Amino acid sequence: MAEKIDLKSMTLPEIEAFLATLGEPKFRAKQIFVWMHKGVSSFDEMTNLSKSLRAKLAERCTLTVLQVERKQVSKLDGTIKYLWEMEDGNCVETVLMRYKHGNTVCVSSEIGCAMGCAFCASTIGGLVRRLTPAEILSQVIYTQKDSGLPISNIVLMGIGEPLDNFDHVLRFLELVNDPNGMNIGMRHISLSTCGLVDKIDRLADLQLQITLSVSLHAPDNETRSTIMPVNKAYDVERLFQSCRRYFEVTGRRISYEYAMIDGVTDSDAQADLLAKHLKGIPGHVNLIPLNDVRESKLKPSRRVPEFKKRLESHGVTVTVRRKLGSDIDASCGQLRRKTLHLDET
Ligand code: SAH
Repeated sequence: MAEKIDLKSMTLPEIEAFLATLGEPKFRAKQIFVWMHKGVSSFDEMTNLSKSLRAKLAERCTLTVLQVERKQVSKLDGTIKYLWEMEDGNCVETVLMRYKHGNTVCVSSEIGCAMGCAFCASTIGGLVRRLTPAEILSQVIYTQKDSGLPISNIVLMGIGEPLDNFDHVLRFLELVNDPNGMNIGMRHISLSTCGLVDKIDRLADLQLQITLSVSLHAPDNETRSTIMPVNKAYDVERLFQSCRRYFEVTGRRISYEYAMIDGVTDSDAQADLLAKHLKGIPGHVNLIPLNDVRESKLKPSRRVPEFKKRLESHGVTVTVRRKLGSDIDASCGQLRRKTLHLDET
């Protein structure tokens, strides 16, 4: 039997073309698109389609439905962490954060991660597989549907390296931006990368209005290569070359993520070097207090205020990331595959 068509990963014009092959009129495509992006769980729920068309779709296409496997709500700040089960039995994590400026959903782009950062729990089991555009999109759709909270912002900062799943992530951006669906503006979306420079260059050329975050974490090659293997392929100088180009091509300021690790990334000399790299590239540094990952020996720094001051003395714009959902392990770097089982060990 031919492989089923991944309908929810398709754009509206593509669905129209597919429906034409079934002898169906164009306007049906929009009806189907709207239903899928509302999060229906079967073709049978598409009640404005004929029964025969619904049956044909069910036979030929998949719908990418996510089921709640586990849901945890933070008592501290209302953050919700979802563990979704996908159709192949794999699970994926999504976090909903409630900020004053709007509800923000943090989505995963892969199951597991191949990047191997020393401080991050998502990479412990390696990469299992990349998510489809529909699976990334469905995290947004079902989080809004299940929580009943309207989502206005998206951060691609969950499990996985989004630029390692480049084509699917780009298609996700196109789908989630569609006025017939979630209609989330590019300026309300952030994408975070560990520094795949060739992909940063490709992204720049697309001139999207998204915010790019770069997980820098250390300004010197010696330290960065120790905690982030990606630095051995693309070093700090090469990374900043792409960051500079990204700003010049898109006019968008980059946000640099910097995890404060005790005795590893928190020295004054490192603050000075970081400021030096940023000279002439308008951007902003976001200091992340390291979250404890049980398997890692790295510990949180106590020098966050001093480091921040030192950067500011060089004229760098700095913020410190607020921790949300810490009672449910929803903070940066704590998401992981099969949370249920691994957390029990
Ligand atoms: N792969 C992408 C997307 C992950 S985003 C990237 O590397 O940017 C998750 C962010 O949390 C990244 O900045 C990551 O480096 C950071 N992070 C991972 N583990 C962490 C930890 N234990 N404490 C604080 N931040 C962490």
